[in-house]
Amino acid sequence: MRLVLLGPPGAGKGTQATRLVEKFGVPQLSTGDMLRAAVAAQTPIGLKAKAIMDAGQLVSDDVVIGIIDQRIDAADCAKGFILDGFPRTVAQAEALRDLLTRKGLKLDAVVELVVDENALVDRMRKRVADAIAAGGQARADDNPESFKTRLEAYRAQTAPVSDHYASRSELRRIDGMAPIDEVTAALNRALGA
Ligand code: ADP
Repeated sequence: MRLVLLGPPGAGKGTQATRLVEKFGVPQLSTGDMLRAAVAAQTPIGLKAKAIMDAGQLVSDDVVIGIIDQRIDAADCAKGFILDGFPRTVAQAEALRDLLTRKGLKLDAVVELVVDENALVDRMRKRVADAIAAGGQARADDNPESFKTRLEAYRAQTAPVSDHYASRSELRRIDGMAPIDEVTAALNRALGA
C-alpha cells in the first residue's frame, strides 16, 4: 500500500495515518516528524530547518525530497508506506513520481481529508491543550501566528497539489469533518479495504 494523505494542518492526517499503519503494516512517513527529529538531533538539516518550521513556512523542496527519496529505500518500506505531509508542493509531487518511477514503484492512492477551515484553529488549540495535559510540550509552530502562516502556505502551495492529482484522476476526497471513526471507515472504503 503506497498512499499519499493530503489535507491542511489539523485535518487529522496523523490520526488516520496511525490507524492505517496498524491495518496495513506499513510505516507512516511524516516529513514534519522527520524534520522535527532532525531539529532535535541538531543535524545540519535540522539546524537549517528550525527557524523556517517555527515560523510556519515550508522547508525547501530539495531537502524534503532528499529525505523521502532515502527513507523509501529502507527495508520497512518494502510493503509500502503512508506519506503524511509530503508532497506539499506541485514540484514535490512531480519529484515523487519521478523517484518512484526510478525505483520501479507507483502510488496506489492519493486521498485528501477535506475540512472546514474554520475548524482548524480550534483543532490546533485542542492539540496544544492535549499535549500539555499529557505532561508534554506544545509544538513550537502550534501558536496562532505560525498557524496562520501554515494555513497560508497550505492555500498557496499545497492546495494546488490536490488539483494536480485531481486533474490526473488520481485523487479521492473524504469528509474530514466527520467523527474520527467515520473518517477511518470512509478511508478504508476509498482504499478498497
Ligand atoms: P502540519 O501539522 O502543519 O501538517 P507537519 O508536522 O506536517 O505540519 O510539518 C511541520 C512543518 O515542517 C511545516 O510547517 C514545514 O515547515 C515543515 N515541512 C513538513 N513537511 C514538509 C514538506 N513536504 N515540504 C516543506 N516543508 C515541510
